[in-house]
Amino acid sequence: MRAVRVREFGDPSVLKVEEIPAPEPGPGQVQVRVHAAGVNPVDAYIRSGRYAKLPTLPYVPGSDGAGTISALGSGVEKWKVGQRVFFFGTAESKSSGAYAELAVCNADAVYPLPGRVSFAQGAAIGIPYATAHRALFGRGRGRAGEIVFVHGASGGVGIAALQLARWRGLSVIGTAGTEEGLSLVRANGAHFAVSHRAALYLDQVRDATQGKGPNLIIEMLANVNLDSDLGLVAQRGRVVIVGSRGKIEIDPRQTMTKDSTILGFAHWNTDADELNAIYTDIVAGLECEALTPAVGRELPLADAAKAHDAVMSPGAKGKIALIP
Ligand code: NAP
Repeated sequence: MRAVRVREFGDPSVLKVEEIPAPEPGPGQVQVRVHAAGVNPVDAYIRSGRYAKLPTLPYVPGSDGAGTISALGSGVEKWKVGQRVFFFGTAESKSSGAYAELAVCNADAVYPLPGRVSFAQGAAIGIPYATAHRALFGRGRGRAGEIVFVHGASGGVGIAALQLARWRGLSVIGTAGTEEGLSLVRANGAHFAVSHRAALYLDQVRDATQGKGPNLIIEMLANVNLDSDLGLVAQRGRVVIVGSRGKIEIDPRQTMTKDSTILGFAHWNTDADELNAIYTDIVAGLECEALTPAVGRELPLADAAKAHDAVMSPGAKGKIALIP
């Protein structure tokens, strides 16, 4: 089969398409014919070699994808060959990442993909929707009637957060850095959208909350925004750090005067029961059409390097999918 393979950590040029043996499903596993693979920023961090958890070289990148079940390992009864699925996380094997024609997953890490959702949209679900869900409702304890500010709403996690929050009855404010991104933010559930490149844009967010500030902030770039988030958040509000790419100086006193809370988390810390509950809820949202992933770019597998450049560049417009 054709797959992207990384033989050494480095810049995007290390992503090369190779012909490699197809991964076979073991007991309790399924093989998926991948119709689309999702590109996440974490794929780029890992490829660069600068990440807390690194795979053994050589490896096939990618954790998220969608396709059809193509083979069953022994003992798998819950799936049939041909079923449409999306998945998060491939089985631990050098040849089973998502940037490939075939991938092997544990049978319980695969979820049904409703017919109205395309494979490219299915590839946008794995990390982004589960991350947004846990940020909003798990760590952030967001509930109907509250105001959430998605600080960085035009990318994979941001769009998911807008849709999930809107579905659950929160008032939703989101930011983007381009006009195209702002249109996408509005189209995906934000009641109010503002550019994080505009001067004094946080004043507009404060005004949109009648001066009280958002109850919950979902933060995509904490190393830039955390201190100003602490100034903006409502009394007893929560700031959930989803993304951060460096250090920042904050004034901790701001948390004292507001009884506010800063919460961090990593998707890979989510335990199996919580993850299963999250994906079950996401499938329900896809089925009832409350959730519809937004795909901004579809690229062939051979353009994996371009996809990694794009996912680390400004101007997000939903998800980037690779098509094997
Ligand atoms: P993405 O698709 O590349 O989107 C990045 C988002 O950040 C875009 O909306 C971008 O807006 C926005 N952004 C850029 N500059 C900003 C600023 N100054 N203030 C606020 N937002 C800004 O990435 P993603 O998949 O959504 O992931 C977002 C971040 O969360 C990444 O850092 C990723 O590594 C991290 N993440 C963490 C976890 C976890 O487990 N904690 C899981 C998934 C992702 P424009 O491009 O429109 O400017």
